[in-house]
Formats: sequence, structure tokens, C-alpha cells
Amino acid sequence: MSYEPKRFDFSIPVRINLYSDTQSKPTPAMKEAMLSAEVGDEQGGSDPSVWALCDRAAEVMGKEAAMFLPSGTMCNQVALATHCRPGDEVLAHVDAHIQGAEGGAPGAIAGVMIRGLPGPRGQFTAETLAAAITPVSRYSPPQRLVEVEQTANRGGGTCWSVDSLNAVAEVAHANGLQVHMDGARLMNAAVALGASAKDITAGCDTVWLDFTKGLGAPLGAVLAGSKAFIGEAWRWKQRLGGSMRQGGLNAAACLYALEHHVDRLAEDHANAKALARGMAQIPGITVEQPETNLVFFSTEGTGMTAADLAARVRPMGLMFSVSDTYRGRACLHLDVNAAQVAEAVTLMRGALAA
Ligand SMILES: *Cc1c(COP(=O)(O)O)cnc(C)c1O
Repeated sequence: MSYEPKRFDFSIPVRINLYSDTQSKPTPAMKEAMLSAEVGDEQGGSDPSVWALCDRAAEVMGKEAAMFLPSGTMCNQVALATHCRPGDEVLAHVDAHIQGAEGGAPGAIAGVMIRGLPGPRGQFTAETLAAAITPVSRYSPPQRLVEVEQTANRGGGTCWSVDSLNAVAEVAHANGLQVHMDGARLMNAAVALGASAKDITAGCDTVWLDFTKGLGAPLGAVLAGSKAFIGEAWRWKQRLGGSMRQGGLNAAACLYALEHHVDRLAEDHANAKALARGMAQIPGITVEQPETNLVFFSTEGTGMTAADLAARVRPMGLMFSVSDTYRGRACLHLDVNAAQVAEAVTLMRGALAA
């Protein structure tokens, strides 16, 4: 078995990339910020651009301290390993990214068990969490951590409201559990909810945000928490090979994204709504109402699988991703404009009519 990704077919140009916001490319201004970044040795604490990013990101997320890591996956794994001991239980939604999309890392690295909680659109309620709390006994795994995903990716890019997050955090803390937020698309939620990231994460002990999604940076994520937590977490950053050298080149891109690419997420959300409206008019397609930049849809009514439709539009220069047999995902980001959204609808309609 090879797990290596298939080499992309570069001979077919991609004109409209709805595959993922991770595929957005750094803008010329962002590259300029990278080129002029002051750098040092991140691992040794002498890279000023990395410190500047960590300070700013900690402030945005309302936490005492922050750490720069190469990816969101590493943020989750450093957080799990720092919060928990092997054998501990983490409560997360059944569709959580840590559960299904991180290569089994929670078991392999932190040695934790994940209890999957049910709930519509990638979220669970405080009541569901309360019902899953087990009495402390030598039989049951020690329950250590509650994990929430903002926005809930497989849930449809949905936003947890500040109230529901606070209610979940209250139950967690009352039972001696900590709360960790996978904030891969935290800023999308902040813009969609019209709330500050700080208010959204107030009930969370730790949170990270990804710069390679809608924010459009080439590499990097920042994990934030208390000073004591981040201090502890540095051992795991080192252990996993997440301590970097001239990280400032990338930190400068992330800082640029934080200053210039947050407000514009509203455009992606408007484009997502326009795409959803357009696609809902295509016979056989049903669309899940988007809340942010992710548009999930079903191809079941067309008789075609999502993968078949994706293969049919690919030669036309259009890409989207496949989530399940009949479930596709189209993702809006800074490299897709309103005209391309309209064209994408036309192309899908044509592909299905052919
Ligand atoms: C993308 C994503 C991750 C992982 O982030 P990477 O930077 O790709 O490692 C984690 N959680 C969610 C919800 C994501 O969408």
C-alpha cells in the first residue's frame, strides 16, 4: 500500500478551484511581506517575526501565550498530548477532524481515546456532553478534554454560537475537563457571526487557528493558551519536529494574512451563498445551506456519484472535493471570484445535462 498522493495532472489547467481553501496561493503583497521579514532561529527564540506573530495571534484569540507550528494537525496533536496522558478520553463530535482525518494521531501520539458525540451539523449540545460524562471509577478512561471544531468542517462549515460554546465549556469545566478548540476556520466563524475571535474562544482553554485555509498563507498555524500550557507544549513541539529555524519567513505571511485577509472572508461567504443558490437550481442537486465558505451538496438526485461529477467537470477546469459517495464540497476562498462562481454553476449544469 502506498499512501503517497497521486501526482496531480498538470496538463489540465485548473481555472476555478473550489477543491479547498488550502489551495489558495500567496498573493504578491504577501510574498513581499515574506521577502522583507526579519528572521532568526525560531527554535532558539531569536526569530522576531515568529514572536510578533505569536503575540498578535494570542491577542486575537484572547489567550496569554501562543506557539507557531507548521500545520493545524500538529496544533491538535501538540494540544492533545499536552492536555492528556495515554489512556485519557477526549470527547469530540463523531465527525471531528481529529477523529477521522489525522491519520490516527490521537491514538498513535497522545495515546488518547476519542468518544464521538452525536449531533446535527457537526455540533453537539451541552446536554449531550453532560450525558456522556462518566462517574470517576477505575473502570472508565479518565475524561480529560472536550474538543470542538469552529467552523465544523464536515458539519457543513457551520458556526458554533458563542452561547452554545459557553454552555459546553461550563459543563466541561464543572466536571474537571478542559476545552480545546480546533479553530482551523475560526476567523470565518468570527466574520460570519459578527463576533470577535476572543469572545468566541472565551470558554476554551486552548485554541488554534490555521493560516493556510481561508487566510491564504502558504504554511503555518498558531496554538494559543495559558502561559503555563504553552510552556509545557514546547516539549511536544520539539518532540514532533515542529520547532523551526527561519520560521519568520512564514510567520510574516501569516501576520500579513491576519492583518489583511480577515475582513475579506465576508466575500467568500457571499460567494458561497451565491454558489448554493445557483446549484440549488440544478435538477437533482440538493444543497446544504452554507453558513461560511464551505458548500456541501448532494448529487444523489442526479443518479451520479459526487466523484463522477467531479471527474466530469475536471476537464472543464473546475474542481471540487468529494466528501462521501453522493456528498460533494465546494470551497470558497480568495482565489475564486463571483464571476467564477457563476461559471462553476453553468459548468456543473452542463456536465449533468450531457
Ligand atoms: C484543515 C483542518 C485541520 C488540519 O489543518 P492542517 O493545517 O491541514 O494540518 C484540522 N481541523 C480542521 C477542521 C481542518 O479543516
